[in-house]
Amino acid sequence: MQPKYKRILLKLSGESLAGGDKHGINNETVLSIGRAIKACADMGVEIGIVVGGGNFWRGRSSGSMDRTRADHVGMLATVMNALCVADALEQMEVPVRVQTAISMQQVAEPYIRNRAVRHLEKGRVVVFGCGTGNPFFSTDTAAALRAAEIDADIILKATMVDGVYDSDPHKNPSAKKYTELTFSDVLNQSLQVMDSTAASLCRDNKLPIYVFSIEDPDNIPRAVCGEPIGTIVRS
Ligand code: UDP
Repeated sequence: MQPKYKRILLKLSGESLAGGDKHGINNETVLSIGRAIKACADMGVEIGIVVGGGNFWRGRSSGSMDRTRADHVGMLATVMNALCVADALEQMEVPVRVQTAISMQQVAEPYIRNRAVRHLEKGRVVVFGCGTGNPFFSTDTAAALRAAEIDADIILKATMVDGVYDSDPHKNPSAKKYTELTFSDVLNQSLQVMDSTAASLCRDNKLPIYVFSIEDPDNIPRAVCGEPIGTIVRS
């Protein structure tokens, strides 16, 4: 297989790490995602990964809690996922570093853009934890931000659905799947692919996003090779 991209930013939702469990981490699932990431690294692709935290916690669904504090908890949840993904890759002897947007130096490196780029150039996978480091943001926005910073060719958004639909395919069996969209379509039609902050950041920085299903982790190398398995969103 021939990779289409030299440097990618892979966005893994927290849910994708939970497997059938829906909550927490499923070890087998993380290992199979790790194997798929290794396949991409073996093709020579430089890989940054932003992990979500929704399998543990979502700030906006935390009831009466102060939103800023709830988002701090959410960002810590992403670090648990980042460490588990890094560990799976290390078990497969893929060189990897974790960098967090909130410093916790006993656990991971602090996020330093130039250092992240150097790791990528040396063939190390970099897993970014803590999202953007700020409350009221999402890890999708963190993916857009880090992708712009590291000059990634594309964001590969691995999700629980195999692309972007005009309505929820789980609720509407005749929902129509798009193969290609613009960010203006996403913003104007409020399509549920990412939040508007993330979509605007991608649009303004001309960063394409490829949305595909991670139910089969081998879709990650397929997406890296440009196979038509999902929906591409671009300017
Ligand atoms: N979060 C945050 N700032 C960020 C990224 C994430 O405060 O820049 C918090 C927020 O509470 C969010 C949680 O971390 O709900 C988990 O991230 P997200 O919901 O994006 O995870 P995913 O849905 O991708 O698993």
